[in-house]
Amino acid sequence: MLKCLKIYAGAAQNAMTTMNTLLLEAANGKQVTKEEALSFFERDVEELFYAASKMRKKFKGNKIKICSIINAKSGQCLEDCKFCAQSAHHKTDASVYPLVSNEKIEEVSNKALENAGCFGIVSSGNSLTDEEIDRLCELLKKHKKSDHFGASIGYLSDANLKKLKEAGLKKLHHNLETSEAFFPQICSTHTYKERKDNIKRAKALGYEICSGGLFGIGETLQDRVDLAFTLKELGADSVPMNFLMPVKGTALENAKPLKPIEILKTIAVFRIILQTSDIMICGGREINLRDLQSMIFFAGANGTMSGGYLTAWGRNPADDKQMIKDLELEIDPHR
Ligand code: SF4
Repeated sequence: MLKCLKIYAGAAQNAMTTMNTLLLEAANGKQVTKEEALSFFERDVEELFYAASKMRKKFKGNKIKICSIINAKSGQCLEDCKFCAQSAHHKTDASVYPLVSNEKIEEVSNKALENAGCFGIVSSGNSLTDEEIDRLCELLKKHKKSDHFGASIGYLSDANLKKLKEAGLKKLHHNLETSEAFFPQICSTHTYKERKDNIKRAKALGYEICSGGLFGIGETLQDRVDLAFTLKELGADSVPMNFLMPVKGTALENAKPLKPIEILKTIAVFRIILQTSDIMICGGREINLRDLQSMIFFAGANGTMSGGYLTAWGRNPADDKQMIKDLELEIDPHR
């Protein structure tokens, strides 16, 4: 019996040492495999915090990025993403309006850029019309801070990507949402490949790529790891991580919320896999993490969205700035 216990204790000790070594190596910049990344979910959150914080400091220093968005065109999207309040396939209370005026975007962006380093123009729907793209180009050419702008405006032809780039747009956002294997379970009206192709063409034209996902939609841990590896392969410069805020009337209105510690572990695993990318915590931070939201930075995030989301309110930017200050981190005036 004693011999058995000693063997068991020895095996457990070996497993601990192996895993700690893996995390330590990852924290020092070693690329991890999918299997290793998956096994990190079984570690204590403190261990993950150690590795992820070390990586954040190594690659990002003490600087925290803040971004902000405008929902520039809302609702009546013909796509059927199960989680989305703006899909015409769902009956929700989300606002419906066409592309807002350039004056409105200018007004909101000027205010937002007092606190944020990056301002995203987001529109619902598969794509914008050529006329709408021309309108955005006019705005970008005129705006003094257009190099702080990003756009999340669906699929774009090469011609429109080039036009927007010439007008001053630097960053293109297009989420993958989840893994390739799980994607058909959340959307049937377009393919993962179409999303990836849009990102690849923008990357080839020199755009900074902002692409991430949504968690808590029924995906497995393997789906999360697969998503992170796909984003790495695509060279995502910035990775927004959103956590489902179930909306009444959508197909996921009754989805069970993720636990805060699981969210923090997911953030840490993304930092460990994606190493140098910006890890930005966006939709669902306040509702899902509650009092633990400041811990996103210990989990390796180096940025967050502040001031509101597409169809839900967020926190007052002043509170987010205070939280960052209290953590003795600095706000990055990035673009
Ligand atoms: S996530 Fe985007 S593409 Fe999907 S339904 Fe919502 S607005 Fe449309």
